Amino acid sequence: MKDQDIRHKLGLRRVINVNGTMTYLGASVVVPEAVDAICAVLPQFVEMDDLQRAASDVIARACGTEAGFVTSSCASGITLSVAAAMTGPNLAAIEKLPDTTGLKNEVVMLAGHMVHYGAPIAQGIALSGARVVQVGQSTFARRYQLEGAITERTACAVYVVSHHAVQYGLMPLDEFAAVCHARGIPVIVDAASEYDLKTFIRQGADVVLYSSHKFLGGPTAGIVAGPKEFIRSAYLQNLGIGRCMKVGKESIVGTMAALSAWQQRDHAAVHEREAGYLKLWLSALSGRPGIEATITADPTGNPLDRLKVTVNPEQARITAWDLADALGRGDEPVSVRDHEVEHGRFFLDPCNLHPGQEQMVAQRLVEELERALHGDAIIATSLEQRRNRRVATLMRWPDRG
Ligand SMILES: *Cc1c(COP(=O)(O)O)cnc(C)c1O
Repeated sequence: MKDQDIRHKLGLRRVINVNGTMTYLGASVVVPEAVDAICAVLPQFVEMDDLQRAASDVIARACGTEAGFVTSSCASGITLSVAAAMTGPNLAAIEKLPDTTGLKNEVVMLAGHMVHYGAPIAQGIALSGARVVQVGQSTFARRYQLEGAITERTACAVYVVSHHAVQYGLMPLDEFAAVCHARGIPVIVDAASEYDLKTFIRQGADVVLYSSHKFLGGPTAGIVAGPKEFIRSAYLQNLGIGRCMKVGKESIVGTMAALSAWQQRDHAAVHEREAGYLKLWLSALSGRPGIEATITADPTGNPLDRLKVTVNPEQARITAWDLADALGRGDEPVSVRDHEVEHGRFFLDPCNLHPGQEQMVAQRLVEELERALHGDAIIATSLEQRRNRRVATLMRWPDRG
């Protein structure tokens, strides 16, 4: 088993993912339908415009739009869509980007949507040559602020649906889109990680963007869906700035297969299996000193629950972040969802496990909690050092340590 695992040959650790579909962990478990399609197309030549035409049909049906295409990531989908809003189908203008001389080049966005998904969204927009105009403040956005931000230089608006965005005090998508549409401004929605493929279009999005490699279980790629003419203009960016965001035939067919598989999946059965994992972890943690575990709903309403594990370091004799780090050591590290760890909690996400791994997660939790409980001192290392660790490690890459 261990020897068949390609990670063993490559000298890589066999990560168990209860964190989420993270780029730095290799995104997702690609579904078998996509793996088969990718293997089938890799040795063949195809006419790429025809393949993207076929992808357009699949995306249009799945998302309830006129058209769509596959790009290298949702991040590149943002750049190419903003570019399309500026150039339309003008090939000369497309070749000139990121020089936007003579084009409308402003993009309105709520300040509470200025997210970082591994890189800043504002940079993804700026790559096209556009300039972000921020609307409102971090937790405050009202209609008058959006109306005031739209000028004759505005090319489009970008709206982010994500747990990364501020979750209160801002304008909902339908109100945002209504204000934009009253001024003729197209609305691009970054829904990279959202399960519902149709709801944002219904709420007023013109163009909607998804990651193929997140919930869909596709290969690394992005999906751009919207009205035919806009999508054509975005697709034409592949003759310009899109070239360095090139997508391969394997990612296009893999995305098509993942989309079809998603529509046929027994979502209720998946939810039930995941509920079983949460119950297992709950019972493994119940009655342990200083540990409180509760099932919590997804913050943006995806049909998905996670286990929230809150750690009281005096009683558990370890901090939440040291427990997360302890789980992350060894040959088979358990990666937990730790973006709120400074509040003394982390989450266990049940979506990305192979059968049997749920047991190993429970076992590792119990092991590390027992070890801490019977240790000499409370395990409490510097949170500041931990916060800056990834950057410090990257600054030594490719060296280790
Ligand atoms: C993951 C994510 C992205 C980036 O998606 P990629 O396909 O990995 O480029 C963009 N926006 C949000 C909100 C995300 O969660």
